[in-house]
This record gives sequence, C-alpha cells and structure tokens, in this order.
Amino acid sequence: MENTAHTIDRIFSLQQTQAIKQRRSPVAARVKLLTALLNWIKDHQEDIRKAIHADFKKPYTEIDISEIFVVTSEINHTLKHLSSWMKPKKVPTPLTMLGSKSYVQLEPKGVCLIIAPWNYPFNLALGPLVSALAAGNTAIIKPSEMTPHTSALIRRLCAEVFDENVVAVIEGEVEVAQRLLQKPFDHIFFTGSPMVGKLIMKAAAEHLTSVTLELGGKSPAVIDQRVDLKDAASKLVWGKFVNCGQTCIAPDYLLVQTSVKKQLVEAIKTSLEDMYNPSAKGVQASPDYARIVNTKHLQRLSQLLQDAVSKGAVVEYGGTIDVSENYFEPTLISHVTQDMAIMQEEIFGPLLPLMEYQEIDEAIDYINANPKPLALYTFSNSDSFNRNVIASTSSGGAVANDCVLHFLQTELPFGGVNNSGIGKAHGYYGFLAFSNEKAVMEQRIGLTASKPLYPPYGAMAKKVVASLLKWF
Ligand code: NAD
Repeated sequence: MENTAHTIDRIFSLQQTQAIKQRRSPVAARVKLLTALLNWIKDHQEDIRKAIHADFKKPYTEIDISEIFVVTSEINHTLKHLSSWMKPKKVPTPLTMLGSKSYVQLEPKGVCLIIAPWNYPFNLALGPLVSALAAGNTAIIKPSEMTPHTSALIRRLCAEVFDENVVAVIEGEVEVAQRLLQKPFDHIFFTGSPMVGKLIMKAAAEHLTSVTLELGGKSPAVIDQRVDLKDAASKLVWGKFVNCGQTCIAPDYLLVQTSVKKQLVEAIKTSLEDMYNPSAKGVQASPDYARIVNTKHLQRLSQLLQDAVSKGAVVEYGGTIDVSENYFEPTLISHVTQDMAIMQEEIFGPLLPLMEYQEIDEAIDYINANPKPLALYTFSNSDSFNRNVIASTSSGGAVANDCVLHFLQTELPFGGVNNSGIGKAHGYYGFLAFSNEKAVMEQRIGLTASKPLYPPYGAMAKKVVASLLKWF
C-alpha cells in the first residue's frame, strides 16, 4: 500500500499539471486520443474477450455486444459530434443586458477519477473514459478488484495508448479506492452500488468535488394482460439473464396482471429453454450462459432463494446451483411477497421473482412506495397503458415493450435518480458530466448600462429600479 500511495501522489500531481495545460486542448488533440483508444480496441478484440471470459465465463458474443461494441459505438458517436459539442453556445441577450454578448463555454473539469464495478468491467471503465477525454480531462481509472484479468488488460491498454499524465490505471482493493478518494479530484465518476455510492459522495464532499453516481436498485417490469406474451417473455428472458443477471438495468422483478400470470410463466419457461437449453443438455452445458462473479455472490443469491422459498415462494423454473463453478441456473419464482429478502435488495443475479396485481394502480403504488429504480419496463399492446405507467412513476430510464436496450441509444442520457444515481452518462450527456458549463458575458468597453444603479443611490437609481420591477 505504501508503494501504491506513493504512485497515487505522483500521478495525481502529474495530472494536475497536465490538466491545466489541457484546458484549451483543441478538437484535434482530443480526437487523436479517442482514435488511438478506438484503434487499440479494434486491434485487441481477442485479448479483451479472453480477459473477460477468464473472469466469469462471459460468452464471447455477449462480450462483443455489451463490452466492445458499446465502447466503440460511444467513441464513434463522440468523434462524429465532438466539434459541435465543443462550440461555445450563444444565449439570447435580454433587453436589460442590451449591448452585451453571452455564451456558455464548456471547459474540462480537470483531473477526474473513474471508479468502475465488475459486472461490465471493460465497458464501465472505458465508457466514462471516452466522455472524460472528449471533454478534455485527464483521468485515473480504478477498475474492480473482482475481475482481475480485465483490470490487468485495462491497465495494459492505458499504458500502451496514453501517457500516464493523461490517463493512468491504479488497480487495487477498497483501500486503494479510499486512498484515491482523499485527493481533491475535479470530478468523480462512480459506477457501483448505492451503499458505496453514499461513501463516495461523502468523500467527495470533503473537497466539494462534483460526482456522477451510476448506481443500481430494483428495476421493475410491469406486464399488462393486453400483451403479446411470447414477445414479452423472450425480451424479459434476454434482458434478465444476459451476463447471468449481473446487469444494473436487468429487470429485477416482474409485476404481472393476475389474469395472464400462468401464461407468462409458461412463456418464460419456453423462452429459457429456447435460449439456454436448445440441445436439451441442461443450461449448465450452454456456452451462452455466464457465471456468477465469485462464491460470495453465489452464496448471497442462494440465501435470497432459500429465504423466499421458506416464506412460501414457488420455484417455477431452475434453482440449481453448482458451487464448483459458480453456476446458478436461471430461476423464476412465483408467489413472491414484499416481506421476502429478495424484494428488499437488488438481486443482481439470475433470480427472477414474480408478483401479481389486479389493477394497474396497485403496481404503480408499489413502485412509488419503494426507492426510485434505475430502469422501468412496461409491456402492453396499449400505448396509453405504457405511457401511464412511465408518467406515474419515477425512474432513471424507461422502456416500453423491451428492456435494457436504452443503454445502447447514444442520444439518450443514461443514469438513475436519487437511490439509483445522480447525474447522467453517454454521448453528449457524458461529455457534459465531465465539463464545467462556464457562463461567459462580454460587455462593451465604455457602455455602462448599470451606472444609474451605482451608489450613492439617488432619485435616478430609484426610478430605474421601479421601472425594472414594473416592466421586467
Ligand atoms: P461496488 O459498489 O461494490 O464496487 C464498485 C467499485 O467501488 C469497485 O471498484 C470497488 O473497488 C469500489 N469500492 C467498493 N467499496 C468501496 C469503498 N468503501 N470505498 C471506495 N470504493 C469502494 O459495486 P459492484 O459490486 O462492483 O457492482 C455492482 C453494483 O453496481 C450494483 O449495485 C449495480 O446495480 C451497480 N451498477 C450500476 C451501473 C450503472 O450504470 N448505473 C452499472 C453497473 C453496475
């Protein structure tokens, strides 16, 4: 730790000096950095796949879509729009400011810290880096200690592509993150759990550092009786069980109208068999199903299942666990009630509980009685049903008749609200998160419109104030 502490001090100080130099970095310099990153990723796809697969057997196709493509599309989108994002934005001049000119100039915040989780270990470290570099910052990345192969790869990537005064990677456990947090960063971009998010915000408060907190929570999926059950089931199964359920925006639980509950259960079982057991050798034999990241999480999930079953939940599908390889079968449970532990914490694994409602207001009231989710999904043939659910609840994002996909829509802000996060990421919104929106006003020399308001305050000042209050 002594060595790491020294490294942190040294790199932070180097980056502080560099950040001031980079304050006026032109588009071309930023494009150069982003292009170098893009090229490295393109040239090392196999290395990336191998590292992530070694960490939790994530299938290669899932790696290609949710780790590599997500980052390369973020870079391409940024390269396309960066020069227009960087342009100062003129604002109108009100009559009272006649003669002046004003604009918003986005400037880099400075030295930024990116703390990443393990569940999409490449995407969630590199995605924020794209925004940080686009906005002209320097960055230190602290990848997750739970995915050591991917963390080592990210370290290698950054060492090969960037000078350490621009981007550096510091690997390590919680103590390393805590040590980093003692530094007066100009922005912290944290992705992880709400519990750790609170600690990050407390540490940031010491230096009044701005934060983006990309957190988690329980994202519901609401299913109306007027729905194509087969279509909804396949989308829910993909969104829930991709990455073995370890996705911040996976549907955490289902709220299903009682009249279609049985049919939905059957449709989900069919989809599970189609996707993960096509050769009837069991899901464990499927190369397309990942593993739980470690034994600790496997045990946590197993306890959630046991608690639910002991309180009356029924296992409709799955339930098998193989500790020797951190395997947890896709599991659907019904007869779930609010008092079960599974309904009180984020599941973050391949366990899908199903609760029922008779009238939609019961489902809406349930969602509103709980912390605001990161995502909300609603499935119905009726647009007004979907829009009503979305408008009557609060969540970071919402999707009608699909799930998870909004993460890939580069034009939308991505993030949570309150317990599920603060601030937004992706595309222009990510660029904004790492920028200071500096308000610039240019007054003309010799034009002193506010002169009548200077002291000593005489009759003229009173007249001017009276007319301001009356007319503006
Ligand atoms: P985590 O909060 O345990 O850890 C995230 C990072 O914080 C890791 O790098 C870890 O080393 C560091 N950390 C842990 N404890 C710390 C402490 N006391 N002080 C400082 N740093 C500390 O989260 P995780 O288990 O890696 O990831 C799962 C969580 O992340 C879930 O809640 C999930 O919903 C959330 N998540 C959110 C998003 C999003 O985009 N909103 C994406 C992925 C995951």
